[in-house]
Amino acid sequence: MDAVTYKEPAPILDKENPFESMMERFDVAAELLELERGVYEYLKTPVKQVTVSIPIQMDNGEIEVFEGYRIIHNDALGPSKGGIRYAPDLTVDEIKALAAWMTWKCAIANIPFGGAKGGVKCDPTRLTPVELEKITRRFTANMLDVFGPDKDIPAPDMNTNEQIMAWIMDTYSMHVRRTENAVVTGKPLIIGGSLGRREATGRGVMVATLAAMARKGISPKQSKCAVQGFGNVGSVSAKLLSDQGIRVIAVSDVSGGYYNKDGIDLAKAMDWGQKHRTLEGSGIGDSITNEDVLELEVDVLVPAAKEDQITAKNAGKIKAKIIVEGANGPTTAKADPILDANGVLVVPDILANSGGVTVSYFEWVQDRQGYFWTLDRVNRRLERMMHDAFNNVFHTAEKYNVSMRLGAYVLAIDKVAKTLKVRGIYA
Ligand code: GLU
Repeated sequence: MDAVTYKEPAPILDKENPFESMMERFDVAAELLELERGVYEYLKTPVKQVTVSIPIQMDNGEIEVFEGYRIIHNDALGPSKGGIRYAPDLTVDEIKALAAWMTWKCAIANIPFGGAKGGVKCDPTRLTPVELEKITRRFTANMLDVFGPDKDIPAPDMNTNEQIMAWIMDTYSMHVRRTENAVVTGKPLIIGGSLGRREATGRGVMVATLAAMARKGISPKQSKCAVQGFGNVGSVSAKLLSDQGIRVIAVSDVSGGYYNKDGIDLAKAMDWGQKHRTLEGSGIGDSITNEDVLELEVDVLVPAAKEDQITAKNAGKIKAKIIVEGANGPTTAKADPILDANGVLVVPDILANSGGVTVSYFEWVQDRQGYFWTLDRVNRRLERMMHDAFNNVFHTAEKYNVSMRLGAYVLAIDKVAKTLKVRGIYA
């Protein structure tokens, strides 16, 4: 069998591009695994890419046309799974990378799903609730052949929430003429959501952080942490980390960073954030920049905002001993070797933030059984699965003598490639 020699890896442009960042790590992992060329080609290419146009009559009576996307990267392990994001600067390459990351994430989390991602190119801050609902419903109607509880299951992502999932579920259900709550996860509880789903990504980040600290011999009670981003993932991670005795000395959101050497009052920050949708004016700490937050003297840094925050430009200035990636793709491929050389233990996104999709899986299982679990059961099972995933990635990294990031890619790619081999190629 032909092992690939990667003379010409995926092109890396100067501009950071999430898909290229993903492919750069993928190429190294593929080489370590001596992946066959055919399997390499198969795993690098999404199995399905759908673009739809979404014409909407806006509140002012005018028609505007938006573009919606769903990319299924791979469905060898099961129905594809992944979030829907709304953003004005959404690109196909971004969704492609995020879809592939979902494939690897589900493989590492050991759940029977493939990977997908989608979204609508729109600025939700400039849309009224009525317009937002119309966009969501038309997007869903146009994706009827793609979505399905046994085919492809969306979930919340950047700028989407439980309400948007409810509209997707309702629109899909109207078309198929029955209530189909397993078609999306991250729904409101009352229509088949799961207890603990909203906090799941942050809870997983907390579990991964404690596991990494134990490996580094750092005691939570004596440690300091900074969290970039105060959305669902950042705020819950910060709160749960501080509940573990870790001093969270800085947080940030789009309005900037906030520093308090004695520890941020997180209950106050969350309360203010919920009421005002920004931390500005909360009085929780001194103002610093978002970049400063990344470079503070801390034990743990949790980037939980968006892609490309830790780059070759600032990676050398990071003082944290551990980075736990709450966001998808916060570190570029070019930053990886700098962090490795400085001995920073990076718990990669596809492991660190997999708590969200893990509880999505629990939600889907509960919907299909019509039997709902207690919060305690959800949290205990999540913690167990996060621990198993962490240890599997850690041991793979040790075995191949590589970073946890590459260990995670190796573990995931190996599993999907083996599944593919067993299933064979249908012709
Ligand atoms: N959007 C989340 C992620 O990136 C959750 C996806 C899901 O639950 O399907 O992992």
